[in-house]
Amino acid sequence: MLVIISEKCIECGLCSLLCPSGAIANGSVDNSLCLLCGECEANCPEKAIKVSE
Ligand code: SF4
Ligand code: SF4
Repeated sequence: MLVIISEKCIECGLCSLLCPSGAIANGSVDNSLCLLCGECEANCPEKAIKVSE
C-alpha cells in the first residue's frame, strides 16, 4: 500500500498530476485505486510518499 507522510507533504499537486489512476491528491491516497506504479514516490519533491508491501 501507499503511505503519505503528511508532515512532509507541501501539497504541490505533482503526485495527482502524475498518477495514472487518479488515486492520489494533495496529501491523501485512495489505496483501492492505487496501482503501486511508484511514479508518485519517485517524483515527490519532499519524499513524502512511500510504497510498502
Ligand atoms: S508530490 Fe509529494 S509534496 Fe507534492 S502533493 Fe504529492 S505527496 Fe505532497
Ligand atoms: S503509486 Fe502510481 S497509481 Fe499509486 S498513487 Fe502513486 S502514481 Fe498513483
